[in-house]
Amino acid sequence: MSKSNRRSETPVEPECIFCKIVAGDLPSRRIYEDDHAIAFLDIAAWHRGHTLVVPKRHVTDMITGTPSLPEIASSIDAVARMLMHRLAADGMNIFSSARDIAGQEVFHMHVHVVPRYADEPGLDLLINRGVVPDGELESVYRQIQAGA
Ligand code: AMP
Ligand code: ZN
Repeated sequence: MSKSNRRSETPVEPECIFCKIVAGDLPSRRIYEDDHAIAFLDIAAWHRGHTLVVPKRHVTDMITGTPSLPEIASSIDAVARMLMHRLAADGMNIFSSARDIAGQEVFHMHVHVVPRYADEPGLDLLINRGVVPDGELESVYRQIQAGA
């Protein structure tokens, strides 16, 4: 990660992959958009429907600069409820990692919204680093869109 990519508050960072996704310059499976945020499926989903909610403006993490979490709170809420409903999930984890010491890997603030299902319960099974076949992401994407 270059230093410039970690600049905390500029509207857009040219080398930031999430800025590129916001701009539509990198592909994503986008499931939600409003004035402040977009949401798209995580390419390495831990559970079916794992989604990232990201502010449209570039900010490195939720504890840096002008607060971004309040700005996208209603977006997170809308996405969580949409996923619960459209995927018939049984529960939900919502969290954000700030800074590398906390495990953050992409330095554009994002909130993980992770639907949970009764067959894989509990916090110990939250992070499930198996490879997700492309077909599976596409099928959950279609299911979410079909409920629109
Ligand atoms: P974190 O470790 O909290 O920074 O999470 C970064 C997340 O971004 C990981 O769960 C990655 O799987 C996800 N990710 C990285 N690149 C992409 C991408 N191009 N499209 C969707 N999700 C991505
Ligand atoms: Zn960015």
